[in-house]
Amino acid sequence: MSESKRLFFAVEIPKPIQKQLVQWRADNFPADAGIPVVAANLHITLAFLGDVSEEKQRALAAMAGRIRQPGFTLNLDDAGQWLRSRVVWLGTRQPPRGLLQLANMLRAQAARSGCYQSPQPFHPHLTLLRNAAQAVPIPAPGFLWTFPVTEFVLYESRFVRGRTKYTPLQRWTLNES
Ligand code: ATP
Ligand code: MG
Repeated sequence: MSESKRLFFAVEIPKPIQKQLVQWRADNFPADAGIPVVAANLHITLAFLGDVSEEKQRALAAMAGRIRQPGFTLNLDDAGQWLRSRVVWLGTRQPPRGLLQLANMLRAQAARSGCYQSPQPFHPHLTLLRNAAQAVPIPAPGFLWTFPVTEFVLYESRFVRGRTKYTPLQRWTLNES
């Protein structure tokens, strides 16, 4: 029997923006605010799948390949902190409909395949800091990073030598919008 993998679908953040975000975070948050997520790990989760067998992965990939969704532009213009999950996040004040539809579809497909989906509504976000247990001052509005989202990615998440590492396994292109 083959081993299962810990998988999730996500929107990849373009490398130059990952770098800018890391710089902005360093400039705007105290060093002890939380544990910074490394640049390469900055992403927006669309659907978390959990531990998935090879067979189930194939089924999920086949379903993902049937998605016909337009691409969209993402504006990262919002930030906040969820004290309950100890996360400082970046997000978007007006989530594009394409983003919500894509996540809904992937989450519905995952649920149908038996991947547990949290009943909580989908809040598209990018985790900037983890283990932010104390309330952190959030930079005033006015920041903005914009980029086109033209594909979504299936990632494997592994804990390697003390670090969480995401490896892209497969990508699907979104249609022209
Ligand atoms: P680590 O757990 O190793 O500290 P991580 O949380 O980034 O790091 P994973 O737990 O593999 O790595 O999670 C991958 C992605 O899926 C992250 O964006 C994470 O927030 C999200 N995620 C993890 N568990 C769930 C869950 N139960 N429901 C929804 N999203 C989840
Ligand atoms: Mg985790």
